[in-house]
Amino acid sequence: MRLLLLAPPGAGKGTQGERLAAWSGVRHIAAGDLLRAEAQAEGRLGREIAAYQARGDLVPDQIVLDVLTPVVVEAVARGGYILDGFPRTLPQATAAADLAARLGVTLDAAVYLYAPEAVLTRRLLDRASQGGRSDDKADVIRHRLQVFAETTGPLVPYYTERGILVAVNADQPPDSVTADIQARLAGLARAAGR
Ligand code: AMP
Repeated sequence: MRLLLLAPPGAGKGTQGERLAAWSGVRHIAAGDLLRAEAQAEGRLGREIAAYQARGDLVPDQIVLDVLTPVVVEAVARGGYILDGFPRTLPQATAAADLAARLGVTLDAAVYLYAPEAVLTRRLLDRASQGGRSDDKADVIRHRLQVFAETTGPLVPYYTERGILVAVNADQPPDSVTADIQARLAGLARAAGR
């Protein structure tokens, strides 16, 4: 199984990514987590990544590709991946497609989790009130949602045109979202004769 999760902050892609990975037995690759781990490292690169993440800006494509590519290559060799939060820009999407072609594999589906902006903001503010992450602050949350709409949003038509977009309503309890994704993926697999 090779899937990617395309979702604004607060839509639950981390939760769904973990569940889908456990369900399908492939690696859950969370771009934000991998970049946060890099940001902990000593040195200029770590500090640079940390600064982008703290502002809610996207980390430059080349840095993201340098971090993600070896992880994706290894996951492909082990049977697949659930990519959570990568790609997030059109250049990242074309780089990911080139990499897949080089490795001789294709993407099964791009799962788009959508929810009203007010719901996403409320969830992120709730997470902030329970400790949360350093980028869960009202002004940074607003900026992350805007970055998603402007920069990552265009990936929805990109994958629709490629016939692999699966749009799922994320404004439901997590179990219902998981069930909807699984039902839609099973439908795709049946249609593809798998
Ligand atoms: P996330 O954990 O998915 O919410 O990502 C947290 C932060 O990590 C984002 O706000 C970005 O700063 C950075 N990030 C994660 N994935 C990417 C990506 N594919 N491209 C650029 N920046 C990313």
